[in-house]
Amino acid sequence: MLSIEQAREMRQGVSLKGDRNQCGECGELFNSVYAFDKHRIGTVGVHEGPAARRCMSLIEMRFYGMAKNNFGFWVTDRMSVEDIQQKNSVIAARDSTLETTAGRCR
Ligand SMILES: [Zn+2]
Repeated sequence: MLSIEQAREMRQGVSLKGDRNQCGECGELFNSVYAFDKHRIGTVGVHEGPAARRCMSLIEMRFYGMAKNNFGFWVTDRMSVEDIQQKNSVIAARDSTLETTAGRCR
């Protein structure tokens, strides 16, 4: 029996060597653990609400300067801690705005 990771690897025809990895949530491929960590936002251990831990969407990843390399792996420039904190607060603010708007519609 293949593990899920092995099956995914075979299906996509890619090899995950060195620092490369694949997200178990969204299935995207990352060229480094750093790039993988960058696409996981929110607070670890929180499962609901604006602060919930989740993957960034493809649009969000591009917005924050990530891009796919020629092999189909996401890569990123390194971000400072301040950048990451600002990113999280921007997303949290946006999500709470969306909830407020949705509330008004009901
Ligand atoms: Zn993901």
